[in-house]
Amino acid sequence: MSAEEISATPTDFIREIIDEHLKTTRFGGRVATRFPPEPNGYLHIGHAKSVCLNFGIAAQYGGTCNLRMDDTDPSGESLEYVESIINDVRWLGFDWEDRLFYASDYFELLYQFAVQLIKSGKAYVCSLSADEIREYRGTLTEPGKESPHRNRSIEENLDLFTRMRAGEFEDGAHVLRAKIDMTSPNITMRDPVIYRIKRAPHYRTGMKWCIYPMYDFAHCLSDSTERITHSICTLEFENNRPLYDWFLDELKVECHSQQIEFARLNVSFTILSKRRLIELVTKGSVKGWNDPRMPTIAGMRRRGYTPEAIRNFCAKIGVAKNDSLVDISLLEHCVREDLNETAPRTMGVLRPLRVIIDNYPEGRVEEFECPNHPQNPAMGSRRVPFCRVLYIEQEDFIENPPKKYFRLSPGREVRLRNVYVVKCINTVKDKAGKVVEVHCTYDPATRSGPPPDGRKVEGVIHWVSADHSLPAEVRLYDRLFAVAEPGAGDDFTKHLNPASLETLTACRVERSLAGAAPENRYQFERLGYFSVDKDSSPGKLVFNRIVTLRDSWAKVK
Ligand code: ATP
Ligand code: MG
Repeated sequence: MSAEEISATPTDFIREIIDEHLKTTRFGGRVATRFPPEPNGYLHIGHAKSVCLNFGIAAQYGGTCNLRMDDTDPSGESLEYVESIINDVRWLGFDWEDRLFYASDYFELLYQFAVQLIKSGKAYVCSLSADEIREYRGTLTEPGKESPHRNRSIEENLDLFTRMRAGEFEDGAHVLRAKIDMTSPNITMRDPVIYRIKRAPHYRTGMKWCIYPMYDFAHCLSDSTERITHSICTLEFENNRPLYDWFLDELKVECHSQQIEFARLNVSFTILSKRRLIELVTKGSVKGWNDPRMPTIAGMRRRGYTPEAIRNFCAKIGVAKNDSLVDISLLEHCVREDLNETAPRTMGVLRPLRVIIDNYPEGRVEEFECPNHPQNPAMGSRRVPFCRVLYIEQEDFIENPPKKYFRLSPGREVRLRNVYVVKCINTVKDKAGKVVEVHCTYDPATRSGPPPDGRKVEGVIHWVSADHSLPAEVRLYDRLFAVAEPGAGDDFTKHLNPASLETLTACRVERSLAGAAPENRYQFERLGYFSVDKDSSPGKLVFNRIVTLRDSWAKVK
């Protein structure tokens, strides 16, 4: 993150809270945040919002931000996910230095905290079943009922808890609960479960533990242990804040972190829930976590989105206290805005139509020096070969054009980008009557500018040389879902957009792309921005369309 980016970040209610704490020296002037993903899936654009917020605040205030794997629930967690998270946060442009932590490293510490709670009479072992606990909990309108085990002696609780750890009991036989208040209007405070028995291998601690701490207990104590000052989380944890504070107060920890909630990011035409993204991957609705249609960081990276564009998007949406749906075209706009500056221009033809320049000598080749960026000479230029046989885009030729069609049609002239004006003389059709070849003449006097006789040529189209261009596959992506809020109903998969991927295999691209490597990004003039996919191999380039030049959906709507 650049100094410029930091200073351009507008203030928000979280930064105001931090400013206030700095004034009152609540944390001795320190600012320490953390990004705490659970390694049970890949990060998505919603996580990027949290990453940018936490690391951005640390950078802005000269503080620190830790990366912490919140890995206290063995089911679904894995090393693959840990590695993907590390890669993605780094790729987004953030650095945690030597502060990569694992909540699972705190298991012993957390256990000791639990023992401390038991010893102060603030936690007890409850032997009700999960269903009974739910029943006893009460509802929003009715108070809960105390567990018959609530008044077990400290000795009995210590004994049972030790034996829970030792593996003497079946899964679910007992839980450890905080002793708070079964009549609290906040259901979270009605003696929440803090430890459960679960025999499941943990990807880091193996079978060492058969009891695991619950999120509410582990999270606040992990924060406090790392001396986090501001623990920023999403709104659904608002009701858990009193519990967060209760644990830290009861355990008299040295650093009482401040939990602050903000609205999670929702983006139209996609879903941001790991559970649902996993479903897309396992059901094969997409080709893996890094499928370029996925809202994951890995997917967006493969598609060709830049970290700058994603950070800029996160800065633009800001942080607020109420949930909202952000239009996906804002994200696409940020990608376009960045690539417009940074992507070199080139030419590619997606659906080729053969063009013969009848008056251009066979065997002759001219090389044209073409700028890589019309507004930025520093990006240099490349030599583009021109010869007698070319390809243009099928849609740039129409036999009977409508009004205001300024591209090629019989008897009409058009400029071939960077080179000559050509005129369509006649066409060759196949048996079905489809035009398969267009014959033109070129005007040598138009090499470096408009026709000297003053006649107007309105259209400019892109092209490639038939002899010099390279074959390529191009994957055109559209929105993954066909409706704005696919997550609203039960079955989100029925809203998948059947046309979210179109693969074109007969494309031709400029010779200059011969050495293009995965993740290189280009503007194919008039078509959009494209990146080299990792499926490319020598002799077979594969491109992803990152985004079109303009928002084609705005028109559809
Ligand atoms: P999901 O609902 O996708 O499973 P999660 O909240 O369970 O997400 P975590 O791995 O626990 O995923 O998230 C790590 C951090 O990222 C948390 O601090 C969480 O608040 C934040 N986060 C997750 N999703 C979003 C989102 N859509 N917008 C903003 N922040 C998010
Ligand atoms: Mg979570």
